[in-house]
Amino acid sequence: MTEDTLRCEIVKFGALLYARGLAHGSAGNLSIRLDDGAILVTPTNSSLGSLTPVKISKVSPAGDLLAGNPPSKEAFFHLAVYEERPSAKAIVHLHSTHAVALSCICHDDSANVLPPLTAYQMMRVGRLPLVPYYRPGDRKLAEAVRRLAGGHKAMLLANHGPIVSGTSLQDAVHSFEELEETAKLFFLVGNRPVSLLTCEAIVELSEAFPS
Ligand SMILES: [Zn+2]
Repeated sequence: MTEDTLRCEIVKFGALLYARGLAHGSAGNLSIRLDDGAILVTPTNSSLGSLTPVKISKVSPAGDLLAGNPPSKEAFFHLAVYEERPSAKAIVHLHSTHAVALSCICHDDSANVLPPLTAYQMMRVGRLPLVPYYRPGDRKLAEAVRRLAGGHKAMLLANHGPIVSGTSLQDAVHSFEELEETAKLFFLVGNRPVSLLTCEAIVELSEAFPS
């Protein structure tokens, strides 16, 4: 796809996510990696519901603005994920309600904060580690993300929200939606006894649907 087409993809999926209530205000950001290593990322203080293709920021791998409006202050962790995950072509980061709620509660095991509830969760999200809290814009957050990005398609920033990568923006959006819906299920089942997927079932899924 051409850069212009990819800019339009970001506008289309931004509007979709906003309409579904997964993005609000000026929170959240989307990005796509171009063939030359630069990224397209949503601008700072923009609403995902009303993006303009030409205003979308184009940023070099080093973080320099190449075109468009100034990028989201969270662009730096997008760049860190792309550096660590060669297969990642797009990233979705939103402050969606259930996933953010999951990021605010205490967890016994920060290596995986969402129990294995469904097959699609395993196929789309996998293990979900918690990234320690740093304020938005703090470069230490990018370094904390970098340490986990290589082994995880999805990560959860503590007291903030998820970062999900994919082989295309559509792929990343589908995985993000699966994560948000699984977080919703997690709170819906609450303290009831839950029949989790067995280790054997998880291994079978990873063999049948390698990510
Ligand atoms: Zn954020």
